Amino acid sequence: MAGVGSAYAIRVRGSSTVGTMQGIRGAWRRTAQGAGLIGDDGGIRPTIFAEMSALAAQTNAINLGQGFPDEDGPREVLEAARAAISNGVNQYPPGRGAPDLLHAIAEHQERFYGIALDPHRDVIVTAGATEALAAVLLALIDGPDDEIVVFEPFYDAYAAVVALSGARLVTVPLRWPDFQPDLDALRDAVTDRTRIILVNDPHNPTGAVFSGAARDEVVRLAERHDAVIVTDEVYEHLVFGDAHVPIATLPGAWGRTLTISSAGKTFSTTGWKIGWVSGPAALIDAVLAVKQFLTYVNGAPFQPAIAAGLRLPDSFFTGIADTLRAKRDILGAGLRRAGFDVSSPSGSYFTVADAAPLGVTDAAAFCRELPARVGVVAIPLTAFVVPAHRGEYATLVRFAACKRVEVLEDAASRLALVDS
Ligand code: PMP
Ligand code: GLN
Repeated sequence: MAGVGSAYAIRVRGSSTVGTMQGIRGAWRRTAQGAGLIGDDGGIRPTIFAEMSALAAQTNAINLGQGFPDEDGPREVLEAARAAISNGVNQYPPGRGAPDLLHAIAEHQERFYGIALDPHRDVIVTAGATEALAAVLLALIDGPDDEIVVFEPFYDAYAAVVALSGARLVTVPLRWPDFQPDLDALRDAVTDRTRIILVNDPHNPTGAVFSGAARDEVVRLAERHDAVIVTDEVYEHLVFGDAHVPIATLPGAWGRTLTISSAGKTFSTTGWKIGWVSGPAALIDAVLAVKQFLTYVNGAPFQPAIAAGLRLPDSFFTGIADTLRAKRDILGAGLRRAGFDVSSPSGSYFTVADAAPLGVTDAAAFCRELPARVGVVAIPLTAFVVPAHRGEYATLVRFAACKRVEVLEDAASRLALVDS
């Protein structure tokens, strides 16, 4: 996405970061480069989410870009946080997480997936899935000979943290319209150099839910090449078909799998940043060794609140999936009416649409113009791929469905004007 973001380049005391940052040595550069955030001028751009949310605010457009809900989550969860603050739960929780939350995570994994966790050994609480991901990769990567296999397009933090860790990124393409991995490409990508296979299921940005065959192949290849499987399951409860299947439940997977999740999406608390990692105790201890020096701990009063959330009845969890499914359908119908080709996501907040039928050849440019043209913000899929692969995703756009129905309907009627 060359060029996107240059208008928002960070300025320091009136001088451009160009010339100031360029001389600074350090891991910031490969991290920003990994995320594709170094501009042609050598300056660093904000993330696509920061940029597009700023554009939405600036133009008063409907923000279907950054994936966050525009409504609060369950009352019980919000009240539990208020009560925790009132009751003095305001100091450092234990390093692994508040025991109540550790137990609630273990109960949740048992209730939904039949996974038996020792809450004191097999799980840690993190500052969102983002810190979990960073801690896992930094803990398990040893240097440039280690490779991390990632499905592309990928959530933007993946390439950034892979680069920070010093590992080599190896991508397996997910292609329009079903975005299932090609198993031959997966087999080619995983070798004895593979340290981690990083899976995101349900998947951001495509909304794909991996097929059973893809999950099985990940496990088979990880066993064969002695790789660790890291799964990011932050959308675990936002699936529209069959119930979510964590890779950790598959035969042979548990002993080599770290499962990451987060409260942000399930309880509409993306700003609370409560996440967790679960898996075999030895791997968890390795992750904790790094995590304790990143944030040490976070979110003391939010931890018991998320524990309360994880203990809500099954009806809450099926309810959020039903609600989001209906929103996906409203968004999808609106996009089709506007002339896009639309993929059919099986989970997550997101729907990918192809703008090619509208004559679009560069979705990044299209997304930059869209707020001024019709008052809607969306994200080009090129933001989620390495620069060399941008051409393959050039006309695809990600829209977030996690907004109120009236907002989605308003967005649909605005998008209907896109071709006029
Ligand atoms: N992984 C994926 C796939 C995501 O979409 C997100 C952001 N919503 C995260 C991780 C980060 O989650 P958190 O906000 O809990 O850090
Ligand atoms: N996960 C959210 C998305 O994909 C955004 C999170 C962020 O802004 N880093 O839209």
